[in-house]
Amino acid sequence: MTEITPLKSSEFIDIAVIGAGPHALTFAAYLLQKRKSWGDRLRFFDPSGVWLSHWRRQFAALEIPHLRSPAVHNPAANPFALRDFAQDRFPELYPPYDLPSTKLFADFCDRLIQDHQLQNRLIPTAVENIVPLAKGFCLWLGDGSKVLARRVVVANGGGQKFLPDWVNQIATPYPDDRLQHSSQVDLRNLYCRGENILIIGSGLTSGHLAIGAANRGAKVTMMARRVFYEKFFDADPGWLGPKYLKDFHANSCWQSRWQTVVGARNGGSLTPEVLTQLRRLKAEGKVEFIENCEIQKAQWQESISAWDINCHGGEKLMSNRLWLATGFTLQVQQQQFLQTMLQKHPIPIVNGLPVLSTHLRWGNQELYLMGGLAALQVGPTARNLSGARMASELIVDTLIKPRTFQPLLVA
Ligand SMILES: Cc1cc2nc3c(=O)[nH]c(=O)nc-3n(C[C@H](O)[C@H](O)[C@H](O)COP(=O)(O)OP(=O)(O)OC[C@H]3O[C@@H](n4cnc5c(N)ncnc54)[C@H](O)[C@@H]3O)c2cc1C
Repeated sequence: MTEITPLKSSEFIDIAVIGAGPHALTFAAYLLQKRKSWGDRLRFFDPSGVWLSHWRRQFAALEIPHLRSPAVHNPAANPFALRDFAQDRFPELYPPYDLPSTKLFADFCDRLIQDHQLQNRLIPTAVENIVPLAKGFCLWLGDGSKVLARRVVVANGGGQKFLPDWVNQIATPYPDDRLQHSSQVDLRNLYCRGENILIIGSGLTSGHLAIGAANRGAKVTMMARRVFYEKFFDADPGWLGPKYLKDFHANSCWQSRWQTVVGARNGGSLTPEVLTQLRRLKAEGKVEFIENCEIQKAQWQESISAWDINCHGGEKLMSNRLWLATGFTLQVQQQQFLQTMLQKHPIPIVNGLPVLSTHLRWGNQELYLMGGLAALQVGPTARNLSGARMASELIVDTLIKPRTFQPLLVA
């Protein structure tokens, strides 16, 4: 195992990356492909101290067998690198679009991390505040120390669990594990034989949870405020290139760009494969769908260890567990570590998304954002692996431009 290089408080970093998920890895791969010798200039911060910890956890907890996105969407600069890596493992590229198995993708990322020697550039702590200086930034770290960085790339995934209003209105006390957001459920530790489980949400996560629980002997009800529908990908592949992005970028109205982003993702959808599995489970009496329906009120009944649920429209349900596959909201104002930046260098914000430069830069600061927060520039796939590729290209392009560096000055 590689040892993590300790960081001295006097050290200053050329490029500090916040997060060590797939987006940070994509950024690193793009940068190091263009500037092989820049490895020493990079430091990544992630409290887990492990690359892709969040990604791996969510795939394991939901028992997801393969990615939703094709193999060309991977963190390497060369889109075909994953296919090349899979030379002896073609059965792990699932039809019809070569969707990599979870294991294949993880092994490929491990290889990339090893090839670029990234493990020893990862500092196992969170960045809690970014304080802009006259030149560069001071990063306040979760372990109480501070470091200076000339440039910062934010690749923190982010997002707050979205909870419907009725959740905040529950008046009865209830055991924690009886109402959970999907990100808290871990199918691997679940014993639910004979239980009724109600899952809220129409996205792929609700599908994975339903399959996992039904296979463990639960009776699952899936409820959505719309109809369940199938789609191969999160957003139409036209969003990966000029077909749709040309008009998107030509549109100077940020509000309308925001609406386009939301509209293109069109809420959650199931893949045809998962919907087929769910229909089979429905035929076996293990899964039930309730569409165009929303919960109005839920009350925990301790005596029967179940939720007493009233829906808008008058329907009533009982369920032993409630799982909220209701996704996440992403708002730059809710990112604690960006509060000082927001105060000292305010930038326009549209419904929670910051207006960045075309190179994803925060105003005139050497701070760059990737992931869902960059959606007003990158488009509806910003948070996906394809979005990571687009964002990395834009950021790397500008970072490698020759410039004269001045010494850091403390403001
Ligand atoms: C179940 C699931 C399946 C998905 N499948 C696909 C797919 O098949 N294809 C696809 O394209 N997309 C997929 N996505 C969407 C997206 O690619 C993933 O959510 C991906 O994990 C996003 O990568 P990321 O690096 O932005 O965020 P993350 O994977 O969340 O990584 C961010 C990292 O930043 C760290 N961090 C956060 N805050 C701080 C801080 N203040 N300081 C330091 N570190 C911090 C976190 O600890 C975390 O490790 C999926 C999403 C989910 C939830």
